[in-house]
Amino acid sequence: METLLVNNILQMKEINKNWKKSDTIVGLVPTMGALHNGHASLIKKAKEMCNKVVVSIFVNPIQFGPNEDYDKYPRSIEKDKILCNELGVDVIFSPTPIEMYGENVILSNNELSFVCPPYSIVDCMCGKSRPGHFDGVATVVTKLFNIVKPDYAFFGQKDAQQLFIIKKFVKDLNMDVKIIPCPIIRDVDGLALSSRNTYLSENERKIALTIPKSLKEIKNLYLSGIIDTGILFDTAISILDKNIELDYLEFRDFNTFKKVDKVKENTLVAIAAKVGKTRLIDNEIL
Ligand code: AMP
Repeated sequence: METLLVNNILQMKEINKNWKKSDTIVGLVPTMGALHNGHASLIKKAKEMCNKVVVSIFVNPIQFGPNEDYDKYPRSIEKDKILCNELGVDVIFSPTPIEMYGENVILSNNELSFVCPPYSIVDCMCGKSRPGHFDGVATVVTKLFNIVKPDYAFFGQKDAQQLFIIKKFVKDLNMDVKIIPCPIIRDVDGLALSSRNTYLSENERKIALTIPKSLKEIKNLYLSGIIDTGILFDTAISILDKNIELDYLEFRDFNTFKKVDKVKENTLVAIAAKVGKTRLIDNEIL
């Protein structure tokens, strides 16, 4: 069956109602499109676990700051449709911003009800340099859950803070969806796949590669017994290209999201950095 493209919220809800008549297990893979193999890995996992798979493609305006790349974010719905078709996706749900938020909200966010996860986990790391970003993410993901009503939703470990926040509000708000984390998919050279990698020039890509290289070295040192985050931090800084503008390099307990001084099992080491104008994120769970 061809992947069905749905732009309309009511139509998506009707489709779900029909599926649910026969106890169908529905999986949702939320994306902003410009699909790559990282997204494909989530879709494949969803296909394994669910009878019906919905991929949402929506560049969500309310999670972008005024000086961010909302307008130039890569959009390639025709290519995305081909990939979804090949992977056996049942529905692409791709609403317009007006369908999702109405005319007024596009002019001003003040008209909208938001889902606001706790300050302690949204006002750090990516949230520090992107104020309001995670409220925008939590709100759109909640809306997608209410529209698609998935049994399972699939998110990449690549956006580790996002994943933690989503798991937190799903639990806090008693939502009936199970969150399935999926591992980071990398290019052959080690760079974590991202729709934003298309912004990088050849030289910038070489510079960007020092990000996964520094994470790998941290992992190696940790496995050889070094647990002091000061030492691990300094090592990473010495590996990162000097043309990289580091936003943060942090060590956090991935169960609590609290900062740690000494690395232990399930410590997240996460980096955000700008290479030229492109902001990249990457991480490892130690
Ligand atoms: P995005 O389209 O960037 O919003 O990403 C949609 C989903 O794909 C999110 O859950 C991301 O964490 C996930 N994702 C993006 N890049 C990768 C990657 N390289 N490996 C695994 N998952 C990814």
